[in-house]
Amino acid sequence: MRASRYLIATQKETPADAEIISHQMMLRAGMIRKLASGLYSWLPMGLRVLRKVERIVREEMDKSGAQEVLMPAVQPAELWQESGRWEQYGGELLRMNDRHGRNFCFGPTHEEVITDLIRNELKSYKELPANFYQIQTKFRDERRPRFGVMRAREFIMKDAYSFHVNAESLNDTYHVMHRTYCAIFDRLGLDYRAVEADSGAIGGSASHEFHVLASSGEDAIVFSTGSDYAANIEKAEAVAPSGDRPAPSQELKEVATPEQRTIEALARFLNVDASTTLKTLLVKAEEDEDGNSGLVALILRGDHTLNEIKAENLPGVAEPLTMATDEEIEKLIGCKAGSIGPVNLPAPVIVDRSAAHLADFVCGANKEGYHLTGVNWERDVPLGRVEDLRNVLEGDPSPDGKGTLEIRRGIEVGHIFKLGNKYSKAMNATVLDENGKSATLEMGCYGVGVSRIVASSIEQNHDDKGIIWPEPIAPFEVAIVTLNAHKSPAVMEAGEKLYEQLRQAGFDVLLDDRNERPGVKFADMELIGIPHRFVVSERGLTAETLEYKGRRDADKQDIPLAEALPFLI
Ligand code: ATP
Ligand code: MG
Ligand code: MG
Ligand code: MG
Repeated sequence: MRASRYLIATQKETPADAEIISHQMMLRAGMIRKLASGLYSWLPMGLRVLRKVERIVREEMDKSGAQEVLMPAVQPAELWQESGRWEQYGGELLRMNDRHGRNFCFGPTHEEVITDLIRNELKSYKELPANFYQIQTKFRDERRPRFGVMRAREFIMKDAYSFHVNAESLNDTYHVMHRTYCAIFDRLGLDYRAVEADSGAIGGSASHEFHVLASSGEDAIVFSTGSDYAANIEKAEAVAPSGDRPAPSQELKEVATPEQRTIEALARFLNVDASTTLKTLLVKAEEDEDGNSGLVALILRGDHTLNEIKAENLPGVAEPLTMATDEEIEKLIGCKAGSIGPVNLPAPVIVDRSAAHLADFVCGANKEGYHLTGVNWERDVPLGRVEDLRNVLEGDPSPDGKGTLEIRRGIEVGHIFKLGNKYSKAMNATVLDENGKSATLEMGCYGVGVSRIVASSIEQNHDDKGIIWPEPIAPFEVAIVTLNAHKSPAVMEAGEKLYEQLRQAGFDVLLDDRNERPGVKFADMELIGIPHRFVVSERGLTAETLEYKGRRDADKQDIPLAEALPFLI
């Protein structure tokens, strides 16, 4: 590709509304542009990366024996009524009508559609097991779309669904998918952990999430230094020995309103009775699709009982117990949401979703800091950042008694699930078994956040100059920068020659033949994150050399003009 004829839409300034590095760099490197909240266009530079991620996912899925299909994005309501999810699925489901007034939704996931397809196509156990996947656009009307394509409303997912005549066969495929996911994330060069996940309301028998480790991650994961134990924080809390921690309140599940649930959760969080006076004022709760309310923000300020937490006590926040926007919280506490507040606040501040999951550990807080209890210890911790809190928690023994726990933040990039017969039973998907009897299908489902991976990779691979792509997903593998080529036909010619040579050898090459100052070109190639850079200049040609610099290298080096290709190979 010639840069002079390619959309290099780089920006110098960091966009004000982009909070995390990947979002900032995807905008600055000209990879994506926002259309509306949670909706993004992929520019040529970004799409090249997305397609390379897709290709790796597709190759590994094909290798696993899964078969690619493509299902409609728009789905009829009838199927969702059959599974019961038309009622259950909350606000994330984008519902719509056609011109005849029939109900449809834009698929957030495809269990219903695939189950409908399979119940009509497969008749016998002999056709099983079978695993079908697609790489396709999903829509979820996320409550808080943010971080660019990381939590978008429209995004690209690889979703796969497997069908089995019995649980053993499901087990086998589940393991194959686990291995396949490891192969995918290994090839993508990501630092990730597979963790046990809570199968929660779906009620399946097993579930694993794959998390890319990154400080900007919205989830917290726990793993042991001394054993294979790894779980997301919800699962870890569900199975961890309770020790002297307060037991989860039983009423928590029964109270009706999110507001009441939040107060219950808070009381548990602080290990106090709901009528105790505390320096506690703002709670932000969020209810997920399964009806669990989670604490999103807890701000300790002023003397109130938990029962008194009401809108009128919270200047500037209309509905504190349902949703306060980041801006509102920021205004109230004078620091950025998503961080733990500055130490000079009058009282501790936690504005962090994953910190809320540390609930069982934090058993009190006052002006000076937190009082924490673990399984075998109690400690006072001064005010500080979330990471400090986390560091204190590290070192707690793990649930299986081996090694110590590490708590890190993760970005969920994959999720595998044993569904059992939830959908097949509701939708009557059966085949004939070996004895000629009708058997309800066992199902598994397996998701990969294809577009989220692009952002996750940047979270792990960048410096202050820009993105540092791992080679397998770099938009271009090699940049050739010509200096003052418009004045020097020799430079132009040498650049073109090298470009052709490398292209023919199979490299993705960007020839930066733009009539721009060298500094501008270098800065762009570094921001875009191309792994290898050659510079063709008059000075170099005189000495019959090229300048080479790897994106991670500190120094440049000169190499003989004729040796560019062998140098790369
Ligand atoms: P999250 O916990 O981040 O909301 P999820 O558990 O709701 O994700 P799944 O239903 O497990 O998501 O979907 C499979 C994969 O799709 C996820 O592991 C994630 O990588 C990706 N994904 C889910 N929601 C989004 C989103 N809003 N934007 C981008 N990718 C997403
Ligand atoms: Mg979600
Ligand atoms: Mg999740
Ligand atoms: Mg998930």
